[in-house]
Amino acid sequence: MMQRPRGTRDLLPPESRLWQAVETVARETFGAFGSEEIRTPVFEPTELFVRSVGETTDIVHKEMYTFPDRKGRSLTLRPEGTAGVARAWLENRLGERTQPLRLYYIGPMFRYERMQRGRYRQFSQIGLEIVGADTPLADAELLAAMHEFFVRLGFADLVIHLNNLGDPEDRPRYQDAIRAALAPRREALCADCQRRLDENPLRVLDCKVPSCQVIAADVPAMDDVAGDASRQHVARVEAQLERLGIPFVRNRRLVRGLDYYLRTVFEVVSPQLGTNAVLCGGGRYDRLIADLGGPAVPGVGFAIGEDRLVEVLPAAFAAAALARPTVYLVPIGAAAQERALELARAWVRDGVAVEVEITGRSLKAALKRADRDGVRIVAMLGDDELAGGTVTVRDLALASQTALPLAALPGFWRALPPAPAKP
Ligand code: AMP
Repeated sequence: MMQRPRGTRDLLPPESRLWQAVETVARETFGAFGSEEIRTPVFEPTELFVRSVGETTDIVHKEMYTFPDRKGRSLTLRPEGTAGVARAWLENRLGERTQPLRLYYIGPMFRYERMQRGRYRQFSQIGLEIVGADTPLADAELLAAMHEFFVRLGFADLVIHLNNLGDPEDRPRYQDAIRAALAPRREALCADCQRRLDENPLRVLDCKVPSCQVIAADVPAMDDVAGDASRQHVARVEAQLERLGIPFVRNRRLVRGLDYYLRTVFEVVSPQLGTNAVLCGGGRYDRLIADLGGPAVPGVGFAIGEDRLVEVLPAAFAAAALARPTVYLVPIGAAAQERALELARAWVRDGVAVEVEITGRSLKAALKRADRDGVRIVAMLGDDELAGGTVTVRDLALASQTALPLAALPGFWRALPPAPAKP
């Protein structure tokens, strides 16, 4: 039997309803904060990710799906969304539009990860970027939109970790400080971190090996080494978050796994997820577009891991999304079967969701099926109903039954009270 590649998943109903509901909230929330959707290709020239994400990052070093196309060009399945947005900004001359641009995206990303719970090789991210604004207000607005999204999903226990990564001018000083702090313990680090210490010491702080995390806990914080400009910037972001009542903690070790970040970086952590607890990561990337050969255009953004988000979705939101809001129309007898599709189409045009019993199940079998699949409203159409121009409607949640004129069903459906909670 054919099997899907390791690290990929089939998204099946009813779980797909959760994903749709989450994506609807994302579109509505980010739209309400003035953003619009951007869709970029799922594969790009490999060079784009090498230059933006950074040659020495884990992503570029060992996690990319890279392949030559038939003409020998090196292409890569996108491991993240920001690089493609930056490329699209340049290529489509979005700089000629009024700045800033607020852009969100939803779609699959690809990384060759080691197999473990919460890590997939194809996973989906929901991201938001504000390009063309360098103010602390831009960072704060972005975080406010993100926070609002989580609030609308009903999350109450998420923690925002925030840090200052400094400006690129501060980076060499900070790298020296990390090297100096870790040199005496070099041998205790994993092989990757020993290499990182030479190539890009910041990456040691991001190592997933527990013993490296213990050692890295003692290195100085960037904020102690950073210049005034970045410290003031992040302080103003924090002041806005306080004013908005958005809780956060300063995490002086937070660095993130991508090279293009500077100044503000953040992660959102769910206490319900064990080792892979980070639901969302983001930060400011004022040099990214220039590094890709464009002008010095600032930006700030985040990406939420949708797979993990759905795993810890608050129960009330999930229950509402899983409720099956359809009318199950069961025709009984040949004459009713002839009428069923016509009637269903009229109701559908009136805004009702209708599932017709098209396999000829008996009423008894149809009611069993409704129960099994969580269908709440069964509309029964037999010879008596046909003669009277009515339909008999049973509400399985309230255990009630009424006869309605055919044209009254849409109004009845719209006025339906919420189902009582199941014991
Ligand atoms: P990053 O682009 O690495 O900052 O990741 C942002 C978010 O995407 C993470 O916090 C995760 O929630 C999610 N994510 C990243 N990699 C994976 C993966 N391999 N599988 C599932 N989710 C992921």
